[in-house]
Amino acid sequence: MLYIIATPIGNLEDITLRALRTLREVDLIAAEDTRNSGVLLKKYEIKTRLTSFHAFSDQRKLDEIIGMLKEGKNVALISDAGTPGISDPGFVLIRAARAAGIKVVPIPGPSAFLTALSASGLPINHFLYLGFLPMKKGRQTMLRALQEEQNTVVFYESPHRIVKTLGELAEYFPERKLVIARELTKIFEEFVEGSAAELLTYFSQKTPKGEFVVIMDGKDVKAERHGRAEGAGFDE
Ligand code: SAM
Repeated sequence: MLYIIATPIGNLEDITLRALRTLREVDLIAAEDTRNSGVLLKKYEIKTRLTSFHAFSDQRKLDEIIGMLKEGKNVALISDAGTPGISDPGFVLIRAARAAGIKVVPIPGPSAFLTALSASGLPINHFLYLGFLPMKKGRQTMLRALQEEQNTVVFYESPHRIVKTLGELAEYFPERKLVIARELTKIFEEFVEGSAAELLTYFSQKTPKGEFVVIMDGKDVKAERHGRAEGAGFDE
């Protein structure tokens, strides 16, 4: 069996009992970065054999893991943080395992975009997750298309690009409300909300540090309608 295991996005206590038990019991853990995952495994005294599986892993590595799975071995896939496959390596292995008729079992846990959305105060019954925005090609086209997007939009951003991105958002979406979640589950966790121009001023004051999730209201959000539907806990 191939287990897809979500791991913490900062606070090492954010891991399920089932994830810990499975990591202990499998024959092999395929990790995006073995050194990074070593910290988590050491904390929980998990001594399972580790191998690396990342965005640049070649076909041989894939064949090796699929080979083990075909022999009936159990393998756990983990990434550096959060849920494997969500803006992280995993897809190729999961697809190959399914194609080989191997059972794939997800073990749920954190993901940065869901964690950020859950406390954002923006409507989240419907949302559009974009991963990282394209860096060059297609970026302006995507920003233009988002001007018509009705749903809450959420994406990842790096500390090096956050100021540039906020500048663009101020240009394309001057009226929208944004929430930026920084360093979720860590000591310096913060949620900052405002217009893109306000957030640009805030994050331009000193060099931005840490990990960022950007959340933006959809077009023409009717706060009252969303508030009722969300508060009542049912969909529209
Ligand atoms: N697989 C991960 C998940 O399920 O969320 C995402 C991996 S992606 C390569 C890494 C990006 O996720 C970071 O650049 C940042 O934008 C976001 N991220 C991860 N951890 C975060 C945290 N603790 N606080 C804020 N954003 C975070």
